[in-house]
Amino acid sequence: MLQTTKKKMIATKGYAALDANSPLAPFSFQRRSPGPRDVLLEILYCGVCHSDLHQIRNEWGPGIFPMVPGHEIVGRVKKVGDQVKKFSPGDIGAVGCLVDSCRECENCKQGLEQYCYNGPVGTYNSYERDGKTPTYGGYSDRIVVNEDFVLKVPSNLALEAVAPLLCAGITTYSPLRHWKVGKGHKVGVLGLGGLGHMAVKFASAFGAEVTMLSTSPAKEADSKRLGASRFVLTTEPANVKELRGYFDFIIDTVSAPHDYNMYLRMLDTNGVHICVGAPPTPSQFRGMTLIANRRSIAGSSIGGLPETQEMLDFCSAYHIVADVEVIAIKDINAAYERMLKGDVKYRFVIDMSTL
Ligand SMILES: [Zn+2]
Ligand SMILES: [Zn+2]
Repeated sequence: MLQTTKKKMIATKGYAALDANSPLAPFSFQRRSPGPRDVLLEILYCGVCHSDLHQIRNEWGPGIFPMVPGHEIVGRVKKVGDQVKKFSPGDIGAVGCLVDSCRECENCKQGLEQYCYNGPVGTYNSYERDGKTPTYGGYSDRIVVNEDFVLKVPSNLALEAVAPLLCAGITTYSPLRHWKVGKGHKVGVLGLGGLGHMAVKFASAFGAEVTMLSTSPAKEADSKRLGASRFVLTTEPANVKELRGYFDFIIDTVSAPHDYNMYLRMLDTNGVHICVGAPPTPSQFRGMTLIANRRSIAGSSIGGLPETQEMLDFCSAYHIVADVEVIAIKDINAAYERMLKGDVKYRFVIDMSTL
């Protein structure tokens, strides 16, 4: 006789885009009930990342719809599978951009799940390892994730301000750690938004001298409050000239097209221009600008699970969180409009109790 195992599903509420042209709207769907190693989180807060908007609008290629965005998730553990060791009901847990990976490749073995050779499983707009079950993100009231992909949240930080650490935080923390940025280094941060404000906080916490590079004079006071010791308006050619050969590193958070050559010339010998924002169209740079001073242009994507936990623990020790504006979920479409205009300091976070 054919055996069938009917798995109980969990009714879940959220907000979804039904296609690439629709605003987000209430959406009901189902999540799997927790398996032996799964954690069920009741979502408390979810950060609003610029990539949420890129993905629901198909700007990063065809998306999987309906799409429930959200990968900066903080929640309370409601239920755990019987083999879960890290969490108990009542604990606070967090989920970032990944909910699974192959766990077998060289990168996964090194805790670099974001670079899994077999493709990590994204928290939304992705398929589970079975290749057919879509993943749904944190603009929802609950989520079920294998405990290996759930982070422990330090108890001394405001939870709404922790949420953006899961993407904006780790995206800037990871390259600063990889290139061992610290005391004695001069770091330029390009762009003061969700990513840029975290880059300023981390680079200055690591002991580097931080300069905010901006096209907007209105950003000066804030960048200094966040930890930058210097602010340079790059619309003034004389300012740009003065910075020639100055920096050891530039963290480039800008995802609109911009002139890389201008910034590359600001790098000292062996300087590295680290891209964490990517314009939608290919960029051009002069090979000779790299060659002349052994400069590099590099990129970096989020962080693996061990490093993400390390970042949260670092944030706990140094009291670092994101600057956030908490919103109700009904205001998400208006928040996207404001985000497009750069009108947020510096991350919207959805209070999921408003769902
Ligand atoms: Zn993100
Ligand atoms: Zn892998």
